[in-house]
Amino acid sequence: MSIHAHGTSSDLSNGTPHPGEATLYLDNAATTPVRPEALEAMLPYLTGVYGNPSSHHTLGERAAQALADARGRVAAVFGMRQSDVIFTSGGTEANNLAIKGIAIAAQLGRDRRHLVTTPIEHESILESADYLERVHGFDVSRVPVDGTGTVDPAAIGAALREDTALVSVGYANNEVGTIQDVGAIATLARERRIPVHVDAVQAAGWLRLAGSGADAISIAGHKIGAPKGTGALVVRGRVPLEPLLHGGGQERGRRSGTEHVAGAVALATALDLAEAEREEAFARVTRLREDFVARVLDRVPSATLTGHPVHRLPGTASFTFAGTSGEAVLLELERRGIVSSSGSACAAGSDEPSHVLVAMGIEPEVAQTAVRFTLAHAASKPLDAVADAVAASVAAVQSTR
Ligand SMILES: *Cc1c(COP(=O)(O)O)cnc(C)c1O
Repeated sequence: MSIHAHGTSSDLSNGTPHPGEATLYLDNAATTPVRPEALEAMLPYLTGVYGNPSSHHTLGERAAQALADARGRVAAVFGMRQSDVIFTSGGTEANNLAIKGIAIAAQLGRDRRHLVTTPIEHESILESADYLERVHGFDVSRVPVDGTGTVDPAAIGAALREDTALVSVGYANNEVGTIQDVGAIATLARERRIPVHVDAVQAAGWLRLAGSGADAISIAGHKIGAPKGTGALVVRGRVPLEPLLHGGGQERGRRSGTEHVAGAVALATALDLAEAEREEAFARVTRLREDFVARVLDRVPSATLTGHPVHRLPGTASFTFAGTSGEAVLLELERRGIVSSSGSACAAGSDEPSHVLVAMGIEPEVAQTAVRFTLAHAASKPLDAVADAVAASVAAVQSTR
């Protein structure tokens, strides 16, 4: 594969990537394009079948039927009940609802005010935990991770207390791709009858979502080929949950607001497809990523792979390039037609070093040199030319320092 077959650097001269044509998009952990199947499935519910699913006329009932069908398909992927699925506006809302909704319900119901999580979670988890501390008097245990970004389930177990309301652990990290042993964590918490929430936004489409033992799981549509602004929290009915959005009582009173019917249909379609393709995608993309990582490490003496060497998402290749600046390497890569990220999309653009890398024990100066490449679930082409471009980009940045 030649990068220039995808376009020339001049296509990017205005700084605006035109994914698909001029660029090779390797930022799939930030977002993905909408799959044609999801778009096609959702369109009728934006136009012809536009009824409000709460309305009692035919148009409303047809929308309600589509919503119920989407709910059933999402529930099936998780091996949970249809009534366990709460459609949300995305991963951030699902995480906020899980953390605040479960913790506050446990505080109200059983006077519990302790939360267990890790320091490498997505901002929507970290900030929700901070909010519980600041506003609701919670005590938060942030169980450290090791140098690979792995949290020891036994350390989570040791952090559990009589008054623990909830444990929340990300299934797979969005910056370095490290996968956690959520099954072991769920087993330990279950012995203590403490609910476990798992942020599976990055895991969806790569890892099995059913049978994890988690009581609540978050997903986001736009990371798996559904539109932005779609997502779900799947939470077992027996777990008390205080709603965040109050109103007309939709989603069994757990998330008021007229449902995004078309979004739910698109999410269910994309999730179904991702699940059907999951094992094949895992094997195929793992090979591509392993070859890419080996080639980068071979070509670039200053490169270090971050995250777990084996227990990581197939599509995530994250590096530090000591002695460079991640932002500068990104610009060089973009000139060569490659779009990647200096960490998470949320942290990008800020000067703060990644909280994930720092929690893994990486020095802030080195964390500033991070670059993350994330492959699509559908990736099929070798990335040899990308590795060569990485070597050229790093060399270009080093020569100017
Ligand atoms: C993207 C992401 C989120 C947030 O999802 P949005 O739908 O963008 O709000 C949460 N957690 C992880 C791990 C993510 O990668």
